[in-house]
Amino acid sequence: MAYFRAYIIQKIPEKYFMDNYAIADNFSLLAKLMDIHGENSFKTKSYSVAAFTIEKLPAELSSLPQDKIFSIKGIGETIGKKIIEQLQTSEMALLNEYLAKTPQGILEMLNIKGLGPKKIATVWNDLEIESLGELLYACYENRLLLYKGFGEKTQQSIKEAIEFYLNNKGNYLYAQIESFAETMHAQLVKDFNGKKLLQTGDYRKHSEIISKLEWVTNASSGEVNEYFEKNGFKAINQSEEVASYKGEENIELIFHFADNDALYLKQFITSSSEPFLTEWIQQNLFDKEKAYKSEEEIFSDAKIDFIPAWLRETAKVIDDAKQHRLPEVIQEKDITAIIHSHSKWSDGVNTIEEMARAAVEKGLQFLVISDHSKTAFYANGLTEERLIAQHQEIDELNKKLSPFKIFKSIESDILNDGNLDYSNEVLATFDVVIASVHSNLKMSEEKAMMRLLKAIENPYTSILGHMTGRLLLSRNGYPVDHKKIIEACAANNVVIELNAHPRRLDIDWRWIDYALEKNALISIDPDAHEIGGYRDIKYGVLAAQKAGLTKEQNLSSFSLPAFENFVASQKTKRPK
Ligand SMILES: [Zn+2]
Ligand SMILES: [Zn+2]
Repeated sequence: MAYFRAYIIQKIPEKYFMDNYAIADNFSLLAKLMDIHGENSFKTKSYSVAAFTIEKLPAELSSLPQDKIFSIKGIGETIGKKIIEQLQTSEMALLNEYLAKTPQGILEMLNIKGLGPKKIATVWNDLEIESLGELLYACYENRLLLYKGFGEKTQQSIKEAIEFYLNNKGNYLYAQIESFAETMHAQLVKDFNGKKLLQTGDYRKHSEIISKLEWVTNASSGEVNEYFEKNGFKAINQSEEVASYKGEENIELIFHFADNDALYLKQFITSSSEPFLTEWIQQNLFDKEKAYKSEEEIFSDAKIDFIPAWLRETAKVIDDAKQHRLPEVIQEKDITAIIHSHSKWSDGVNTIEEMARAAVEKGLQFLVISDHSKTAFYANGLTEERLIAQHQEIDELNKKLSPFKIFKSIESDILNDGNLDYSNEVLATFDVVIASVHSNLKMSEEKAMMRLLKAIENPYTSILGHMTGRLLLSRNGYPVDHKKIIEACAANNVVIELNAHPRRLDIDWRWIDYALEKNALISIDPDAHEIGGYRDIKYGVLAAQKAGLTKEQNLSSFSLPAFENFVASQKTKRPK
């Protein structure tokens, strides 16, 4: 935590008392930052030695006369001046300079066990990664292995250390908290034998990011409190109505108290979004005095079709339910295919055959293999020569695995100028082209729109991959005008991917409504880099359900013949 302490000190305007530890921390941080910035190692070494010396001093520097400071062994003129500067101003100008030119995400990396300045420099300069989330994702994609000093073991331990760090910040992806939430729920139901414990809140709504788990209960606040105290949880907040606790996992567990008569009404209220609830109240759809026996009864009393918690996002859905027009949302079992999947040919872990056999085992009808294109050198992207060999392999596998089918595809980088990564002759050899941005992610909306629109208008593009490049909890996507992109996709017959990786979920489900209004097709794609990645389809489906997507509106639930038709119609877009 030393680094953050020093960093925070820089942010506090008032004078801060600089004890030896604070001064040593500052020198240590300075040495690390200078190493990260590739400064002369002799210089940086002198600062880290100073940090070590200062930490071991028997007397506080602040209690010594200035000339004494200069005569301490290991502290010369330069360092001595910087100590005095800190004692007088609580700051060190040189450190401030380095802090100013180091992105926040790089500073944060110093908190990760196993990531020293040299490795951070590689991550920043060679992998061009500036945040922990991106680094974590690079670990998932096995990108670290290509660089000096990063073996498989190192990559694994860095991955775990980052996950640990991010989890400790109290925000989780739905996929990360799921198993804890379910285990906790089962445990509570068991331990509160005979009492009702109803899940509610963001988890029940399948929100993509979860920072708290909530229940409605008829157990008393005393009982709940005693239980958590006994089990070593910390009480965060306690009142008649609600109480919350935190354990080692650093996730808030919230309990809403209700007597038997008010139980389901409270569950309904705490599992509905604000716009939904406001509309519900305006339309005067419930009787606040009534003792409902279930959530279903609240809906049947109001003469409205049941709306599951995860669909209670908008006011409009209430009218849909009134008119019995709720969508028959897509289910995981409706998925017929893996679209967007990598193999050993680029940065995946498994061979195409292994990926295909795993898809067969899941009962799927086809697989669209889309490895990285040649510009993605860090991901072992495919050159034209290697593509020919890959396509041969696919042809042979198709003979072997029929009637299952593997389609030839590519995840083509959208280059800086908006062009795709191969000549038209090469692009013409693919059944499906997924166009994605992977480089120069830091760009203005104008630039992003230029690249994306040009790629969408390219007649070889069939699917727009992860539209904004966002990584949940770690990187905002580049800024885009969602409406314009959706309209362009609809106009150019380009399918919009819903990347199902729980850290991406990109396109955001909140925009799917608009895509459907414009008659654009969605594709729930796992972007799998190994067989295990197929599991992520579930999270794509959960997100799609919130948007009311049906299986007819999703490309990865097409039957094989329907998909063949899709491929054929895409090919008619291409120049003859
Ligand atoms: Zn991608
Ligand atoms: Zn991909």
